[in-house]
Amino acid sequence: MSFNAVIGQEEVKAILRKQVDEKRIPHALMFSGPEGCGKLAMAVAFAKYVLCQHPENGDSCGHCPSCRQMAKYAHPDLHFSFPIIKKGQTTTCNDYLREWTSFLSSSLYFDFEDWLDAMGGDNKQAYILEAEGDNIINQMSLSSYEGGYKVMIVWLPEKMRGEAANNLLKTLEEPVPGAIFILVSNDTSTILPTILSRVQNIAFHALPAEVIAEALVQRNGLEQNTAMQIARISCGSYLKALKTISVNNEADTYFKNFTQLMRLAYSRNLVALKGWCDEVASWSREKQKSFLEYCQNMLRENFVYNFHRPELNFMNEQELQFATKFSSFINERNIVEFAHEFSVAQRDIEQNVYSRNVLFNMALQCIILIRK
Ligand SMILES: [Zn+2]
Repeated sequence: MSFNAVIGQEEVKAILRKQVDEKRIPHALMFSGPEGCGKLAMAVAFAKYVLCQHPENGDSCGHCPSCRQMAKYAHPDLHFSFPIIKKGQTTTCNDYLREWTSFLSSSLYFDFEDWLDAMGGDNKQAYILEAEGDNIINQMSLSSYEGGYKVMIVWLPEKMRGEAANNLLKTLEEPVPGAIFILVSNDTSTILPTILSRVQNIAFHALPAEVIAEALVQRNGLEQNTAMQIARISCGSYLKALKTISVNNEADTYFKNFTQLMRLAYSRNLVALKGWCDEVASWSREKQKSFLEYCQNMLRENFVYNFHRPELNFMNEQELQFATKFSSFINERNIVEFAHEFSVAQRDIEQNVYSRNVLFNMALQCIILIRK
């Protein structure tokens, strides 16, 4: 990931380039701002530029030994700290390094939930754990391997547990020459003020819709009009735009599973419903949440269908076809409760409650509600 590959954020790039070119790099930077606007991508691009042996035209060269190691996240002077799921007392990021680097290799635009899913984190929480504090000190107190800078990127310092935060503070207070910390945060309000006072803040802003649309055309092969439509509802987040595309791609799966759930609920087929829950619970948490949102939308659409006002309906061909029969089951006696059950399930899954149970309880409610 070079500066060139980071979407937009030209002002930030200019500030960072200047710091490197004038050899006035602060020993600790805080990249703060909304989720999905490219802070982690920028941190990696910046580290690559700092460590590049032959930077050219304001960017890393891409072919020196350092750039080649960076491309594999295998540079000895690049370190990461990030939230992880605890396996034992001494769990550190080193225990997740392989998962982390392969995750970064697939994309630098992701959120905490995506990473939790990648770790297999159903029903789990992730933090930068106490034991990681020693790890930070060990990695950053020695001089660099290559004799130049060494960089540590701390992703989501707001997830740091007490001792880890204290150790980070210690290293920030007594910086080793050449050590650069880049903290990447979505929410600085819960970070220790003593840490905040030791970093130079670089504020990132939401991306303009035009910039997101251009990226969707060039990187994701979307048509200009579709790209602009998606960009407009993405609230300045390229990540949100990516998720919208993947929901569109999932529309068929969602439709199939929604109709299946309704049919099984109507026929009171508990065994098959159990199988349905197992299948949906095996999806990523993110996908389950967007599926449940799709279901709420379908319920609303079918309720509206009963009023015979096609201009108020937004369904595709197969959804409309299904609505001709199914809409009669959605009425003023059950629509509110129906929608409520799906939204509660969505919230519970978001809060890491065990998906299989949440979905099965919801399916049982569907059996009752569909006959109201
Ligand atoms: Zn290079």
